[in-house]
Amino acid sequence: MTPVDRAKLSDMSILRTEQGDVLNGEIDHEMQRIGRIGKTLFDVANCVIRFGDAAPAFVDGGRSIESIESAFCYGMPLQEVPVVVPDTRSHSSLGQHRSVTGAPYIRFYASYPIHNVDKTLTGSVSLVDYSPRPAFRERDLQLLADLAALAERELFLRHANASQLDLQKKNKNLRRKSLVDPLIGTWNRGAIMRILTIEAIRCDKAGEPLSLIVVDLDFFKRINDTYGHPAGDTVLVKVASRLRSCIRPQEALGRYGGEEFLIVLPGSSHMTAMAVAERMRMAIAVQPEVIAGASLNLTISAGVASTDMFPTATTEELISRADMALYAAKDAGRNRVVKATPDLS
Ligand code: GH3
Ligand code: MG
Ligand code: MG
Repeated sequence: MTPVDRAKLSDMSILRTEQGDVLNGEIDHEMQRIGRIGKTLFDVANCVIRFGDAAPAFVDGGRSIESIESAFCYGMPLQEVPVVVPDTRSHSSLGQHRSVTGAPYIRFYASYPIHNVDKTLTGSVSLVDYSPRPAFRERDLQLLADLAALAERELFLRHANASQLDLQKKNKNLRRKSLVDPLIGTWNRGAIMRILTIEAIRCDKAGEPLSLIVVDLDFFKRINDTYGHPAGDTVLVKVASRLRSCIRPQEALGRYGGEEFLIVLPGSSHMTAMAVAERMRMAIAVQPEVIAGASLNLTISAGVASTDMFPTATTEELISRADMALYAAKDAGRNRVVKATPDLS
């Protein structure tokens, strides 16, 4: 075998492994079924559906007659052309094979190539028997070709299945990418708005309150101006992580704007939301963030708005109420949390 052939075959065995992975062994089951059909159809001792050069590990250590037959087939070179040896004893090379000259005395061998989806030679359907078959004719060869075609169809189905799984995975990744902020890994603006819409409807139906917190970093521009934009980016990542540690799994954190976050708290009253926002404020102010060797004292301001305070508000109105509260917090000196009230406008 040339190195190229060997390389091709090792590719094929990789493919075989992948096939096995995808179908969890179903492919072997299907191939075994084709083998059983071949055995009955040709009334031979064995019909081996063989892939690549390496024989599978035999559970019986290769001692059973089936294992010997299978090893015999795997020992034959894979060929692009059909092979029919009506009597192995009179064949130039097979005549010397130890399973021909000695036990179990294989007398008949035939094989038909199996090609992969990409048309490369990947295996064969092989027949072995213990009596010569001088009458193995064109019609039999056609039947053997039909079996090989069945095996090829099985490979095609497996390939299509794998491509579909691959596509589903890619779609999932794309969808994830379209919802997540690439810098800080929170929901992006579009995603958090969708979450808000969905949760607002759900809470309304369930008769539960829903609260929003809008968070904005204080004097963030200074950090960019003093330490550079990349340091500012790192601050955003760290801040998001501290904010995330303050919420529960059913609550959502999204990047609403540059250095502004929106937190959706389904089922939470304004009092709970105020406590969460206060926890967030503390989580940021409690200790400085060390970035690029500099110790940065960070603070946030937050505005809170809840449906229990504004029962008829749309989600847009609720955001705008939280925004007004945020501006009030900024006006009042920053590093604080303000609750939206009807008189705050
Ligand atoms: P205030 O306390 O009033 O909120 O002051 P501020 O400086 O935080 O507010 P301002 O709106 O003046 O500045 C926000 C800055 O956030 C300006 C912009 O360059 C910066 N910013 C927005 N998005 C990003 C980002 O993705 N990375 C970095 N590094 N900076 C960003
Ligand atoms: Mg700011
Ligand atoms: Mg801002």
